[in-house]
Amino acid sequence: MKKYRIPFNKAYLTGNELFYIKKAIEKGHISGDGFFTGKCQEVLERKLGVKKALLTTSCTHALEMAAILLDVRQGDEIIVPSFSFVSTVNSFVLRGAKPVFIDIRDDTLNMDERRLRSLITHRTKAVVPVHYGGIGCEMDEIMRIANSKNIAVVEDNAHGLFGKYKGRDLGSFGCLSALSFHETKNFTCGEGGALIVNGPKYIKRAEIIREKGTNRASFCRGEVDKYTWVDIGSSYLPSDILAAFLYAQLESSKKILERRRLIWARYYENLGKWAKAHDVRLPFIPAHCDQPYHMFYLILPSLKARDSFIAHLKDKGISSAFHYVPLHLSSMGLRMGSKISYCPVTEDISSRLVRLPFFNGLSEPEQSYVTNTIKKWNPRKKQLP
Ligand SMILES: *Cc1c(COP(=O)(O)O)cnc(C)c1O
Repeated sequence: MKKYRIPFNKAYLTGNELFYIKKAIEKGHISGDGFFTGKCQEVLERKLGVKKALLTTSCTHALEMAAILLDVRQGDEIIVPSFSFVSTVNSFVLRGAKPVFIDIRDDTLNMDERRLRSLITHRTKAVVPVHYGGIGCEMDEIMRIANSKNIAVVEDNAHGLFGKYKGRDLGSFGCLSALSFHETKNFTCGEGGALIVNGPKYIKRAEIIREKGTNRASFCRGEVDKYTWVDIGSSYLPSDILAAFLYAQLESSKKILERRRLIWARYYENLGKWAKAHDVRLPFIPAHCDQPYHMFYLILPSLKARDSFIAHLKDKGISSAFHYVPLHLSSMGLRMGSKISYCPVTEDISSRLVRLPFFNGLSEPEQSYVTNTIKKWNPRKKQLP
């Protein structure tokens, strides 16, 4: 792999990670649901004002748990944006569901709620909005439509922890939502996630599914005198060592968000004029959304321009990245019979979007180097392959 002067992402340490890991080890309990798992869950429940937060081994696994909790089965349909990560859809397909791909809005790049009603059938089991870049989907409308049809909403909130829609935390709208603590996300423990349970009726079963289908959680609370196999499930608990790492990050959430806000604002201010002159679009944040500054993307005028732009940055030692390949055009998506999906905005945006280096430790001089290099890009110059 090429070594970049400015990588696209770099793990960031707050300083307390090793200290807490040491504490976890000293406590002598490093499997799941130890001291730090409890601490992380408390922070999430308190800050988000949600009923239950359960740490998981990944966002993917939290979504798999959601699919089990909703009893998703063969023949059910789920409505997901084609412009998303594989796990948004795969977790439900694993249970036998058929994906129905919905296009995105051209401004926020979120699920286009205006198309939602027309995609609902009597088989629709769930709608899975993804808050792209941590910018809230139009949750008022999505919840209104889903509620009127008695369809569950599961938020894929991998990007949006601490983001808000009309003052309310993302991840607190659907009956279930999923967080990611993967290395590339705002708060991380390398690999990790959480299932947020807003619907009280799902709490008990969520604990069971996460504990290999056993009632171990009830047993640990002294509610039953032995624990045993009571449902399907898997091993979705992260080690307390990972939770210790994550706790250090969650504890510094204010500092992390402030760093990210600064980086985002610098890109936005430094590139505004240049973008206008080059027919490049910057991210759009509706006034009613507070973002957690997950990423900074540009939408270039064409696929050709985007490729030349990425090559130019690469040539100068800067790693930038395009994003999702439309799921309905992926080889699995095509095999799932999604050829009939109509997602023109997804196809267009996905061919023109590029994400700039964005990580907590990106320094001001490094960022200036990126923006200055961007301004030197000549879209008409032929790039050597
Ligand atoms: C990162 C991501 C996931 C998967 O997260 P993991 O924790 O790696 O499983 C799911 N959905 C979206 C939108 C993501 O960006």
